[in-house]
Amino acid sequence: MEFINPNPTIFDLRRINSLLENEIAIRSQAEKDAILAKEEAEKANQAKSEFLARMSHELRTPMNAILGFSQLLELNREETLSPSQKKSVSQIIRAGNHLLELINEILDLSRIEAGKMTLSPENVDLVPLLEETVSFLLPFAQQRKVSIVDTVPKSIPIVVFADFTRLKQALLNLLTNAVKYNNLGGTVVIESRTAPDGKIAVTVADTGPGIPQDKLAAIFEPFNRLEADRYGVEGTGIGLTITKSLIELMDGSISAESVVGQGSRFTIELPMGKAADPGVEPSDADRAGLSSPAVSERKNVVLYVEDNPANMDLVKDILLLRPHIQLLCAPQARMGLDLAQAHVPDLILMDIHLPGMDGLAALKQLRESDSTRNIPVIALSANAMERCVRKALDQGFHSYLIKPIHVETFLQTIDAVLGRMSASK
Ligand code: ADP
Repeated sequence: MEFINPNPTIFDLRRINSLLENEIAIRSQAEKDAILAKEEAEKANQAKSEFLARMSHELRTPMNAILGFSQLLELNREETLSPSQKKSVSQIIRAGNHLLELINEILDLSRIEAGKMTLSPENVDLVPLLEETVSFLLPFAQQRKVSIVDTVPKSIPIVVFADFTRLKQALLNLLTNAVKYNNLGGTVVIESRTAPDGKIAVTVADTGPGIPQDKLAAIFEPFNRLEADRYGVEGTGIGLTITKSLIELMDGSISAESVVGQGSRFTIELPMGKAADPGVEPSDADRAGLSSPAVSERKNVVLYVEDNPANMDLVKDILLLRPHIQLLCAPQARMGLDLAQAHVPDLILMDIHLPGMDGLAALKQLRESDSTRNIPVIALSANAMERCVRKALDQGFHSYLIKPIHVETFLQTIDAVLGRMSASK
């Protein structure tokens, strides 16, 4: 310990002063180091996000051609395929969809691990959400002769505070598993109750072969499929890992119980939300942007701005299914803007990642001119990052379709926009 004279001389004061200066210098260096470390961490985080966005885009782009063209082969009514060709095409589509699922799940997992999964919690009524999820799964359940019994009361809203899309993803994972890992002719039961801690619990129970007690924890580990591969049940082994992380990010929890030979029960618990004011709730149709596909007989002009020739060819081929549409194509945004000025199309399909000017900048320019301001513009992009989708929609894109294109959804969206336009003409 430093001795300090109670009656300091000038020498003592100089010494104390120099000690203090030293101390200040050490502290400010430590502060500088901390700021530098924080900046480095932020940079690394940003690089991770950019890498994920890029990976997502790069992987989806070739999938767009693979899945798009094979769907077209299946849909082609003029040149019908032979039975063996049909079988091959359906194998390509099946494998392609599996690969796409894997890409989506791996990207979700990396996003969670990088701490980059952003959720938008809101009050979500479980009743319609479960109905929607069950009806989506019904064809798959029927194929496996599994019946789904939803015992959740329909008369009152059951509201949780959760991210709508991610909760749907979690419920879909649990319900798909309950159907997939069930016996032929089995049953899936959905129940809900208020848990003692005030949270809302939803249980998905099945009558499948069950999971041994000592393996229950392992099913939440990434890529652990237990014996599923051996029995030829398709899957990636990441669904439950993602579901658990998503539910926990929503301040909820998930648990599993199982009796071998009788079945399994998966329960998620989520914070309770507040029921909406009955007068202000938007309808489901509004939310989904769906409307009647009635399209007038008038030739509709659609402009597609896209630099990738395979994507361009795919959309050209798909739109042959809509003979009333005349398609204009531009490989760059600048040319797209010129065509838009000259032809004032009814609809513009815009890739986002374009050489030179990107799709967002092109939309801005379209909105600045009187003649093109009101043309609906649909973004068509392989970038599936939620942040980018939200940014595009906030900037005024009518909707955002993610590549690989799902042909039916693509056509429905176009029909809805053109139908709405001709109705208002
Ligand atoms: P995937 O179904 O793609 O393999 P999941 O992460 O959803 O991946 O599930 C991991 C594993 O847990 C499955 O492969 C399966 O072995 C087991 N599993 C999940 N749900 C059930 C269930 N309801 N009944 C029996 N086993 C299940």
